Amino acid sequence: MAKEAHIIGAGIGGLAAAAILAKTGWKVVAHERANTLREVGAGIFLKENGLQVLEELGPLDDLIAKGTRLRQSNLKDANGRSLLARDISAERVYTVLRADLHQHLTTLAAKWGVDVQTSADIVDVHPDGRLNMAGGQEYKADLIIGADGLNSITRRKMGLEVSCVGLPNGSSRMLVPQVDGDLKDESVEQWVGHKRVLGVPVGRSLMYLCASAKESDSRGVQLPFDVGYWSKLFPAYADLFSRVDPSTVIHHRHGLVHVNGWSKGKVAILGDAVHGQPPNLGQGAGMSISNAGSLAHILESEPDVPHALAAWEAKERRLTEQVQNWSENWDHFVHKWPVGVERLRSVVIWGLANTPATRRHWGRLYRGLDQQASPAAPSATNTKSSARLTASN
Ligand SMILES: Cc1cc2nc3c(=O)[nH]c(=O)nc-3n(C[C@H](O)[C@H](O)[C@H](O)COP(=O)(O)OP(=O)(O)OC[C@H]3O[C@@H](n4cnc5c(N)ncnc54)[C@H](O)[C@@H]3O)c2cc1C
Repeated sequence: MAKEAHIIGAGIGGLAAAAILAKTGWKVVAHERANTLREVGAGIFLKENGLQVLEELGPLDDLIAKGTRLRQSNLKDANGRSLLARDISAERVYTVLRADLHQHLTTLAAKWGVDVQTSADIVDVHPDGRLNMAGGQEYKADLIIGADGLNSITRRKMGLEVSCVGLPNGSSRMLVPQVDGDLKDESVEQWVGHKRVLGVPVGRSLMYLCASAKESDSRGVQLPFDVGYWSKLFPAYADLFSRVDPSTVIHHRHGLVHVNGWSKGKVAILGDAVHGQPPNLGQGAGMSISNAGSLAHILESEPDVPHALAAWEAKERRLTEQVQNWSENWDHFVHKWPVGVERLRSVVIWGLANTPATRRHWGRLYRGLDQQASPAAPSATNTKSSARLTASN
């Protein structure tokens, strides 16, 4: 008889874990607290680590056909000077709509026979494989995966939490119609003081914008989104902001999770539950998918679940925490830097970004893979921004 896995949470991480476990022979039940399956957000970057596991699950053509393959990623300072311009054409970096990625995973889970239950709130979890729903129903599983997000109940019940904090900043995310002259295959992120805006195409008809500010900046984080405020601070994005429907913008505070382990007995944690972090490397979902794939393969070669979970943590935790630490340190660095000496921050970032060792390390973490993939060297230029957001070269 197939072993039974129960997944708590049907977000990107939970659905990826459910689908790949089902594909490798497990009977899988996924419990989602919400009454429908859906993903909140706008666009998302998919990189090599996540793409490899998604490809294992089935053809990716339909998903990526609706997205954009990026050729260049740019980081600019308040004056529009390029701090880092990376040629990523030799890597695979796509943007897709979150809703499309979630739907893709839902379809894969159904294809591989996952039983997805909605309105299923899990309130207790035990290392011996028991889990309890609100209302009292108890299940018994050979493996439980808590993919229940930043505020994971699984992490707390298993005593794996060191800390889970809300960071002092957050992001407003939105989609706007794409028009002729918009960026076609580049992302551009610009920092002005402690605020930043990311703009990137998603497919042929939409642009994804992410505007981040300190939570204490009431106009910066307010909803409905304050188009005038952001356009004045980021004139290069004013044209894009003019297309925003403020009522569709969502805002979330960033969170950071630290744990003392990834599993206890038959229970593992995955995704934001284990590595919740600020979105500086665009790797939270990618690592959730990639770690789900790795877990499924280790379980195939290791019949004993607790040993497999220990082997999985030993294999994946180092890189996962490197990505998280880099993202956390970057957050501290840019947010704590005094605004009055911002030019100096640009010089430091430019200097670091153009050190070969930093570039290699950063490229590895950005891809979420230990092996080198891209022969293309990043370049740093000093292009001035135009009034409108355009390609850097
Ligand atoms: C602004 C921003 C931009 C980002 N951009 C990127 C990017 O470009 N690329 C990238 O890879 N990552 C990105 N991320 C990170 C990425 O969004 C997350 O890492 C990823 O969505 C986490 O997925 P998850 O499945 O672990 O958690 P979640 O998406 O939080 O899913 C958890 C699920 O569990 C359910 N749940 C919770 N508790 C229970 C319970 N007790 N019982 C049953 N169900 C429960 C919830 O309802 C939810 O559906 C970004 C994050 C932010 C904030």
